[in-house]
Amino acid sequence: MKYAILSDVHGNLEAFQSVVKEIEKESPDRILFLGDIVGYGANPNRSIDLLKKITDIAVAGNHDHAALGLTDIASFNPYAREAILWTRAHLTPDHIQYLKGLPFSREIEDMTLIHSSPREPEEWHYIFGAGDIEDNFDYFNTQICFIGHTHIPLVIVQDKRGEIGISRENPITIKKGFRYVINVGSVGQSRDGDNRAAYALCNTAKHSFELKRTAYDIQTAKEKIVREGLPRYLADRLEYGR
Ligand code: ZN
Repeated sequence: MKYAILSDVHGNLEAFQSVVKEIEKESPDRILFLGDIVGYGANPNRSIDLLKKITDIAVAGNHDHAALGLTDIASFNPYAREAILWTRAHLTPDHIQYLKGLPFSREIEDMTLIHSSPREPEEWHYIFGAGDIEDNFDYFNTQICFIGHTHIPLVIVQDKRGEIGISRENPITIKKGFRYVINVGSVGQSRDGDNRAAYALCNTAKHSFELKRTAYDIQTAKEKIVREGLPRYLADRLEYGR
């Protein structure tokens, strides 16, 4: 089966549409979504509409829960907090219902989907590198766990002896007996210094996985953020990819 895996759209419709267009060229069997469809960007409702159109396999992110009032936003930075309050005020009742229906994790084939971390997904821990992985490999049962949340693509590999390391190759071959925690990066608010939208492709029959990037209309996404009265910083950071 061919899968496209997306995470952290954050209401950035321009980035989302560009990624969907790229993905369509690959004709995947299924599209998987790892959470945070809303928060930061100016098009939460239209982003949910597009997500519903392309897949029914999705999990909840911390911004989705924050928009519902299910997560305390005291720990959010002031820009994120302002965006969540704006998003909460703008979501349609239908879309609130949709977000409420998203689970913390899903399994499909030999893959687990979680927004933050396999251990305590509801606590929204961040996995930035092998040092943060701790016992997370014990908390999912499949060969691969796909995550998002940090907005930084990352491939953590556990070999047959249980040794854990980072793979910087791209694409990679999914090896028998090895296990993986893979962050696919962010569609709508990249933070690794590359301002293009990130997503991933996985072909389970060919045991291949690839992190992908695509450029999108950043200017329009920025203008919309400013026009809606959201913090200008949220517009500017799209350009920096930080
Ligand atoms: Zn996010």
